[in-house]
Amino acid sequence: MLISERIQPSRILDLIGNTPLLRLSGLERDVPGVEIYAKAEWLNPGGSVKDRAAARMVAAGSHLLAQGRVLLDATSGNTGIAYAMLGAADQFPVELCLPANVTVERKRILQAYGATLVLTDPLESSDGAIREARRRFAVHPDRYYYPDQYNNPANWLAHYETTGPEILAQTSGRLTHFVAGLGTTGTFTGVARRLREYNPAIRFVSVQPDSPFHGLEGLKHMDTAIVPGIYDPALADEDLRVGTEESYAMVRRLAREDGLLVGISSGAAALACLRVAERARAGDAVVTIFPDGAAKYLSERFWEERD
Ligand code: PMP
Repeated sequence: MLISERIQPSRILDLIGNTPLLRLSGLERDVPGVEIYAKAEWLNPGGSVKDRAAARMVAAGSHLLAQGRVLLDATSGNTGIAYAMLGAADQFPVELCLPANVTVERKRILQAYGATLVLTDPLESSDGAIREARRRFAVHPDRYYYPDQYNNPANWLAHYETTGPEILAQTSGRLTHFVAGLGTTGTFTGVARRLREYNPAIRFVSVQPDSPFHGLEGLKHMDTAIVPGIYDPALADEDLRVGTEESYAMVRRLAREDGLLVGISSGAAALACLRVAERARAGDAVVTIFPDGAAKYLSERFWEERD
């Protein structure tokens, strides 16, 4: 009897989600009495939180992909990596528009999975990539499946249906604050909608870069960016702004004090958690999302700086 007749091997899709919730004991030393937790999203098979949204958007377009259409989208990297991984696993073509200045590690990963890259003007950042994807789709609407992660409800629904319930289960529903960075806003929107239904007393804090020119890859400065259609600012009780340098410093601190090699937006999220925790009451529990790990950012200079 063949092994395949006896066992049910895991598919890549099965490995997405159900990430651990980590306690950030190092950070907690600054805020005695308050607990801080983060979802370790880099443990998804594509290395980021975006596997969740990409999987749901791919599923929503599976009939088009089965007809041979090319999956096209604009992405600052992580959604692209997730699409490219799923495209390789399910054998559909993937074409991604992304700013030319994304890190070399990101481009290498996308190429390794076999995706086609369309590099856009770095000065236009992710908005330039969005405009290019729209242009391509307008010219050849029949060639592509264009999920458009900024405007696709499947993006936030992935978090409403998976990340939110996981957080409730892992905390026994006893969190008091939820903090998350805003990119497409899918993570914040989906989790906040789910948690608010469960307990309207939970406070929701969104996190943005404090200036249009920032190094917080994956996050958007909403005042100056193309605002995602799925963004619902009314969901946030508070919107915090964080700086690039202080986020880099937090990334270094998380490595040294908590043993966590995380990405820059995780540093931004941790910083926002500390600010929230400083004003919280003893017994409160703050939960955030660490969207990706440090692997894609290791060539950046900020690791060399001293604190
Ligand atoms: N951090 C990183 C590293 C990301 O790639 C993204 C996705 N753009 C986010 C945060 C924000 O997630 P979301 O798109 O769900 O708002």
